[in-house]
Amino acid sequence: MKRVYLDNAATTAVDPQVFQAMKPFFSKKYGNASEPHFWGQEARKAIDKARDQAASFLGCKSGEIVFTSCATESINLAHKGLLEALLQEFSNSKSQFSKKLHVITSSVEHKAVLESCRHLEKSGMAEVSYLPVDKFGMVKVADVEKAITPETILVSMMYVNNEVGTVEPIKEIGKLIKKINVSRITSRLSPIFFHTDATQAVQYLDCNVDKLGVDLLSLTGHKIYAPKGIGFLYQKKGTPLIRQQDGGDQEYRLRAGTENVPYIVALGQAIEKCSNVQNSKCSKKIEKLRDKLITNVLKIPGTKLTGHPTQRAPHIASFVIEGTEGEAILLHLSDKGIAASSGSACTSGLLQPSHVLTAMGIPAQWSHGSLRFSLGKDNTKQDIEYVAEILPVIIKKLRKMAPKGV
Ligand code: PLP
Repeated sequence: MKRVYLDNAATTAVDPQVFQAMKPFFSKKYGNASEPHFWGQEARKAIDKARDQAASFLGCKSGEIVFTSCATESINLAHKGLLEALLQEFSNSKSQFSKKLHVITSSVEHKAVLESCRHLEKSGMAEVSYLPVDKFGMVKVADVEKAITPETILVSMMYVNNEVGTVEPIKEIGKLIKKINVSRITSRLSPIFFHTDATQAVQYLDCNVDKLGVDLLSLTGHKIYAPKGIGFLYQKKGTPLIRQQDGGDQEYRLRAGTENVPYIVALGQAIEKCSNVQNSKCSKKIEKLRDKLITNVLKIPGTKLTGHPTQRAPHIASFVIEGTEGEAILLHLSDKGIAASSGSACTSGLLQPSHVLTAMGIPAQWSHGSLRFSLGKDNTKQDIEYVAEILPVIIKKLRKMAPKGV
């Protein structure tokens, strides 16, 4: 049976070059990077190289990269680490904050951000504002500005939405925060720190941290052709953080635990390749295939594109399909050898309308039929043609089977 993988926003295959780069670090160059002997120093050098590769990609200093196990860990470290550090600082200095600290995020973030923010609320560390989005899933910069109070110390916004592909106005929010921070210096208020979850953006969008104006940036390796189980946090010099895992002194005392050298090497290699992909032929090819896929799907009656029509990442084509259940479409597609997703992979076990589509104001009778195709470097024109042939048949069949009124 023909097999077509269109779930690259959930995870990607490890790139053969990335795999080759990491291989020797399993059974030949297996030293512990904390050891002074040859094996240890060989591993240390490999980590240093990967850190340089990551820093060069983000346009930052190598010492500003903290390797973690994934984006979820990076996000938790950024949020909780910053809040704990600031609370400690303010309690020592009897600062201006008589009220609770305040965090701003959006209502369409990945669960890693939303749940971490809920922890900040539940533990009493901060109050959190979850900003609304427009019908395309985009946050308004003016809403961020309106939500800022003297107690705001963190804004956390995703760069690209993983369910609908909308690119959020990160550069504009970065500029706004910079401007507000200048006026905060004169009024002796703590600066606002800016975090972005760049997980779905890394492969395709400019992630230069100065241009974005971010202090913290999280990502994960397995969306960019590195293995699962590796990620990093960019921490701008001077951004206070308290580590969330006690133990050894690894990663500048911010992430205790013996470094996963092969995976760190893989992430370094994968991220270096990302700089070549952005604005490249490969990215243009993916965008073209995505547009073809969108055109084909929208030919089916009762289908709508979700997310922004133009401000969207090249790899995500997402839809709602009236009179169907996303999960049922996925199973039928899978029977025909096609992998796609309904909402994010992390929530697709639950038959609830996606929080992203709900926040975008999409009514339940549509959002239950959500479908996301996410393309990668190995997809072809034939893959898209195959979907165009199979999907209308599946939808027709499901609509026939559906009880009246669904
Ligand atoms: N943020 C976004 C936007 C994602 O798409 C994902 C994964 O789907 C994550 C965070 C979490 O990544 P990980 O599971 O590797 O920690």
